[in-house]
Amino acid sequence: MGFRIGIGYDIHRFVEGKPLMIGGVNIPYHKGLLGHSDADVLLHVVCDALLGAAALGDIGEHFPDSDPRYLGADSSALLGEVCRMLKERRIRINNIDTVVILQEPALALHKKAIQSSIARITGLSPEAVGVKAKTNEGLDAAGRMEAIAAYAAAAVTTED
Ligand code: MG
Repeated sequence: MGFRIGIGYDIHRFVEGKPLMIGGVNIPYHKGLLGHSDADVLLHVVCDALLGAAALGDIGEHFPDSDPRYLGADSSALLGEVCRMLKERRIRINNIDTVVILQEPALALHKKAIQSSIARITGLSPEAVGVKAKTNEGLDAAGRMEAIAAYAAAAVTTED
């Protein structure tokens, strides 16, 4: 049995007139994130952490933003597909931990829903999913409310 880890990083710019999706949860806010898919920055980093743990490349290789099939794509479906790829290779997810960096909106009231959402999509129990939110102390793009950034780490077990 082998143990592996993976990491993911992503950032998306705020735009007017789009729903704000974070971790598969629609967060009430007057802006959303720009992106080819639904721009769910948190699900994107979870995808990349899992792909990284399995050494399967990155989200851009599997779901290219030049492909019209992924225009407005539900990132939950992309993460579901990543989980299917791991399962096919008999790679089991142990746990996922995440950090969302945003000045606004406050995520305190939504963290439980986000945790449950990621757990549901990945088939993990909520106890195996960490969700942390940080402001950026007013610094850089996230601090100036121009963008939301996120990081994720994932630990997996392989059969070999
Ligand atoms: Mg992205």
